[in-house]
Amino acid sequence: MCPYRRSLYSCNHAQLSSEPVKPCQAQKNYDSGAAKEPCGIVETHRPTIRIPKQCGPCEAKKMSTDQTLAFVKKRMASLRTCLNERHNGCMKRLDEAGAKREKVPETAKTAEKIEDPAQAFLRKKMMEDDSHLMMLSSL
Ligand SMILES: [Zn+2]
Ligand SMILES: [Zn+2]
Repeated sequence: MCPYRRSLYSCNHAQLSSEPVKPCQAQKNYDSGAAKEPCGIVETHRPTIRIPKQCGPCEAKKMSTDQTLAFVKKRMASLRTCLNERHNGCMKRLDEAGAKREKVPETAKTAEKIEDPAQAFLRKKMMEDDSHLMMLSSL
């Protein structure tokens, strides 16, 4: 019988060492070629070693979850920045349009009652962006 080291991880998964801690005589005989069969008997009646971390598969799973989360967070942040930039861009364009309108000569004032389609579009777009921003910030 060959004693194997048993490790218990913080996720409660136990893992045996891949090699016996100390090969028994039967195994030694096999290793030296004196015996035809390896020992093959696993003996785990040894104190379990507690390892204050997660086992390999659990660690890998946690990592990939963290990575997915980080990726989503990054995407959200860049999306928010993008929307903010677009929003500011709209505001700027509106300001410029507004500044131009102030310089409209008196004679053209009657036409101002009919809304400029470009202006209407920009205002609508801005409202859309606002609703998008609200949607995002509530997440
Ligand atoms: Zn053995
Ligand atoms: Zn585990």
